Amino acid sequence: METKGRKEILKRHGLRVTDCRLDVLDLFINRKQALSQRDLEEELTAYDRVTLYRTLHSFIDSGVLHKIPSDSGIASYGICFDTCSPDEHHHDHLHFKCNSCGQLECIEESIALPNIHLPQDYKMGAVDVIVNGVCGTCNAG
Ligand SMILES: [Zn+2]
Ligand SMILES: [Zn+2]
Ligand SMILES: [Zn+2]
Repeated sequence: METKGRKEILKRHGLRVTDCRLDVLDLFINRKQALSQRDLEEELTAYDRVTLYRTLHSFIDSGVLHKIPSDSGIASYGICFDTCSPDEHHHDHLHFKCNSCGQLECIEESIALPNIHLPQDYKMGAVDVIVNGVCGTCNAG
């Protein structure tokens, strides 16, 4: 994506434009997959851990990225597809974990989430679904 597009995203979410924010956003857009803080540290060596940590968290707070639950204990983050604002995250997409390459992805195409029935006095919050399987890239190879 052009720099202009990335700046637009930052502005729309009320974030000041910094080099680090542009680079982190760029990485997420180009990779099209969920990334952990460690991935960022390995790719963006020009920035120290604290800067990357703060950038990541400013993105989460402002609705640019969301945290993806993971059984490995290492948190991954994915792009929020225009559905989120600084006030609220709003998701109804699945997460897909490839058993072959280990890649974790947000699946944006609207896939109906399972119909969940809770006891009457329960109030439902976010539904986190992770589907395991083999991703398109691995399946094609
Ligand atoms: Zn979000
Ligand atoms: Zn795969
Ligand atoms: Zn996601």
